[in-house]
Amino acid sequence: MKYLLLIIGISVMMIATACNDNGSVKDAEENKALDTSNMDLSVKPGDNFFEYANGGWIKSHPIPPEYPMYAAFTEIYEQNLEKLKTLFQKVSKEKNLKKGSVEQQIGDYYFAGMNKERVNKLDYEPIKPYLKGIDGINNSEDIVKIMTQMHLDGLNPLFSFYAGQDEKNSEMVIANLYQGGLGLGNRDYYFNKDKRSKQIREEYIKHIVNMFKLINYSQGDAEKAAKTIFDLETKLAEKSRTRVALRDPQTNYNKMDLAKLTEEAPAFDWKAFFEGLGVKKTDEINVGQPEFFANVSVLIKSEPLDNLKTYLKWNLLRGASNYLSSDFVNEHFHFYGTVMSGSEKLQPRWKRILNQTSSDLGEAVGQLYVKEYFPPEAKNKMLNLVGNLKKSLRKRIENLDWMTDATKKAALEKLDKMNVKIGYPDKWIDYSSVEISRDNYFQNTLNAGRFNVKREIDKIGKAPDRKEWHMTPQTVNAYYNPNMNEIVFPAAILQPPFFDMNADDAVNYGAIGTVIGHEMTHGFDDQGRQYDKDGNLKDWWTPEDAKRFKEKTQRLVDEYNQFTAIDTFKVNGELTLGENIADFGGITISHAAWLLANGGKAPQGKIDGFTPEQRFYLAYAQVWRNNIRDEELMRRLRNDVHSPGKFRVLGVLQNVPEFYKAFDVKPENKMYLPPEERAKIW
Ligand SMILES: [Zn+2]
Repeated sequence: MKYLLLIIGISVMMIATACNDNGSVKDAEENKALDTSNMDLSVKPGDNFFEYANGGWIKSHPIPPEYPMYAAFTEIYEQNLEKLKTLFQKVSKEKNLKKGSVEQQIGDYYFAGMNKERVNKLDYEPIKPYLKGIDGINNSEDIVKIMTQMHLDGLNPLFSFYAGQDEKNSEMVIANLYQGGLGLGNRDYYFNKDKRSKQIREEYIKHIVNMFKLINYSQGDAEKAAKTIFDLETKLAEKSRTRVALRDPQTNYNKMDLAKLTEEAPAFDWKAFFEGLGVKKTDEINVGQPEFFANVSVLIKSEPLDNLKTYLKWNLLRGASNYLSSDFVNEHFHFYGTVMSGSEKLQPRWKRILNQTSSDLGEAVGQLYVKEYFPPEAKNKMLNLVGNLKKSLRKRIENLDWMTDATKKAALEKLDKMNVKIGYPDKWIDYSSVEISRDNYFQNTLNAGRFNVKREIDKIGKAPDRKEWHMTPQTVNAYYNPNMNEIVFPAAILQPPFFDMNADDAVNYGAIGTVIGHEMTHGFDDQGRQYDKDGNLKDWWTPEDAKRFKEKTQRLVDEYNQFTAIDTFKVNGELTLGENIADFGGITISHAAWLLANGGKAPQGKIDGFTPEQRFYLAYAQVWRNNIRDEELMRRLRNDVHSPGKFRVLGVLQNVPEFYKAFDVKPENKMYLPPEERAKIW
């Protein structure tokens, strides 16, 4: 089952919001890091650089029906699927593999999932014992028992629980409780009065009705259940924090012991819960949102037992639907794929099963992947780039005119200590104890899910494993982890258009260089700057520097707030601030690093008619090419801390003086901002 929620609290900052069901049906053509045929030369670069750099690509890459969005990230993702499919098909045909070996587990997991007839025949048989267990709940003790089991199985009814480094003592992993329990994810959907939110609420209720009918509820009973669930979730949402409020690490840090937690939320037996989970260290628990948990306690006490049982059933159905028969899969997709994101067609089965394998047995799949597809030379080239980026950022910090020496010193220490991981982990997760068979897909997902949850729980009360990765090598993404003070680049992002061993430097610095710079800047964005060199939430800024930083970044908030993405939906400048700072810092640092590596100035000589300066910015813009459905765009504007790709290009470049020079941007151009209005941070 899904254990994705476990990583909420690690609050790693990624280059893009991962979306497993993204991709493209385009064949595995060879990408180039910079392909000028993707441009639209009829657009003036200073009017709309996103269109200028990507217009051709946008026209020639309509979104395939099965996807909510199609981007550079998903081009690679799709190519990876094809690569992995070959590997998976090979191992799934072999029958005498050693039990517990990577090949046996992946092969059998995939084989069982691909056996559609068997999965359909079982219908919802696999969850019947669970449903029976919920039906048998008689009192609040039973509630705690079932809730504990559900959390062990990767479901998160009412709230989320995970293991994470203590924000103020990064040497210790502790238990964390976090708000959750909402089928719509974001509290705003329950209250907002706009047409889109209303439509989503109506469709959500219909979806719940349909799901309950699939487990043989009558129309009337299913409608009653849906109303109960929606009302209960609305009460949870009332005391849930907004996405913007969740970005403040200080207010979401509330460490307490078990006694205090019990006092704050007395109706739930936390002692029994933690004992059931196997958590031994309960003297330090971070309760992300205490008012949310007080509310959970009130609800447990005041809601009729039958309502809570219905709500738990819904959490089970929602979490398990993708591993049951096609009726469940299709209904789940209809709401979460079509209504929420606009996708028209379910992904083919092999892609879905492959993704699930890749998520449940992530590093096992990673081992196969890097063995076949990760060239070791890429690592050296990356280390070199990272080294140059670090030098460049160091120099820029030293020369900042707005920062005092004391803060500069601490910033440089933090930069020096920033750890780098490239490609894949030195030590792989050992899944050999997970029972994976060829004939029971549901049980396989459950076994793998339990293993992954148990693995997390086992970390509590110990020092963190510094060798651990929070992304698999086959993921097209990158992240900064503030508690570790480290930047991480999985193997899969080291491919064109992000990274190209054969491309000119301008292009690699414009693409992967800006990604590296982006992740580094996260250590110094509005959130990341609150953590010190050792990953502890600790203020190392002088008050005047902090004030100046806020003023400087407020300019970015105001600028992005002006961008209309669709209809009346605007970019949320506050929600996306950290990412926008990182994008802006990324391009600034990478450009300076590129010049530094070239002895202080840009190289000469055009390629394909463009100067190296121009190629740097074109490569940057091409990384963010995408086509996106209206529904998905609206969903992301509300939920995603990243700005839409178009504004990651326009919003950043309108502030970059070197860009104005490279493309001769003049006051009459639409992107033009007078120099005194441009943001300047790093
Ligand atoms: Zn980021």
